[in-house]
Amino acid sequence: MSGDSFADPGHGARLTVDLAAIAANWRALGACAPQAECGAVVKADAYGCGLAAVAPALWRAGCRTFFVAHLSEGIAARKILPEAAIYVLNGLVPGHAEAFRAHGLRPVLGDRGELLEWAAATDGAAPAALHVDTGMNRLGLRVEEALALAGDPLIARAGIDLVMSHLVSAERPDDPLNAGQAEAFARVRDAFPPLRASLANSSGTCLAARARHDLLRPGYALFGGNPEPGQRNPMRPVVRLEATILQLRAVEAGESCGYNGRWQAPAPRRLATLSLGYADGYPRSASNSGHALVGGVPCPIVGLISMDLIILDVTDASEARRGATATLIGDSLDIDTVGQAAGTIGYEILTGLGSRYVRSYVE
Ligand SMILES: *Cc1c(COP(=O)(O)O)cnc(C)c1O
Repeated sequence: MSGDSFADPGHGARLTVDLAAIAANWRALGACAPQAECGAVVKADAYGCGLAAVAPALWRAGCRTFFVAHLSEGIAARKILPEAAIYVLNGLVPGHAEAFRAHGLRPVLGDRGELLEWAAATDGAAPAALHVDTGMNRLGLRVEEALALAGDPLIARAGIDLVMSHLVSAERPDDPLNAGQAEAFARVRDAFPPLRASLANSSGTCLAARARHDLLRPGYALFGGNPEPGQRNPMRPVVRLEATILQLRAVEAGESCGYNGRWQAPAPRRLATLSLGYADGYPRSASNSGHALVGGVPCPIVGLISMDLIILDVTDASEARRGATATLIGDSLDIDTVGQAAGTIGYEILTGLGSRYVRSYVE
């Protein structure tokens, strides 16, 4: 993968997605809670990694329950996964019950109006999940509202087979919100004894056992994101992003580079221009703060990132030459590190991955 010329010379950059690593990450997360089923969250085109390749790889690994955000994503997932249980997290938008049914999709219902509409359309014949909001104030019934529905025939008429909630601060194990949510969710779960329960996202899976329940919902960690920030990342890296060096130039001390001259050479430097920019999904906010690796040497991004080009200071990288490969994501540059350099989180780096470069999948 460190070859100097890409198989497809018409693209400036190459994204490689390791499907075996995704499967291994899914198995590792499942091993954290052997009594629970491990699902997979594949919203946003499988976190930018490509649903069409990722979903079958997870199915082959043994995953049977999938979560997406939108009906349209559910329809796309259904085409790839004819037999999977597919939940749609954003729930039932008015008027769409028929489309959900036609594609065998399960809405995650989070308000009374949604429950009534789904029950009227399906009368208990099609499964769905009940979303209870234990602290996010974003989607879901309030805890008291949910508790009041225990024993109500509406739950059966809406085909509810799963009760779920979402953690506010799972990646911060010391945040007291976690214990409060776990306690509130346990009360809800006890009020609906026959239903399966799901609380844990990636970080929640690593959190205390009481967050795990019956069904895990990891997303980010499947794709190599660190579920335990600040600790060594236990997940295998999934994504590698590489671009070709187009040109090299020497600059004198005091010369600037890029739009608006936002970087000035402190001394004579050697610069390399890469064939990748923000239009490829690499964040412009990493200007003057991110790095790329050339021959394993970290080279700072200098000046403003352009639409199609990035300038690196390769003074210390002896392997830098025209046609050589620079790694923007991969090796020591994991997605969490890249996110941090861009003032964001690795989630946004993944979901922003573009479609302009050549993509390849390895098993
Ligand atoms: C996105 C999402 C997840 C997955 O979260 P990760 O942090 O990516 O593991 C789980 N549950 C809900 C409700 C979500 O929206």
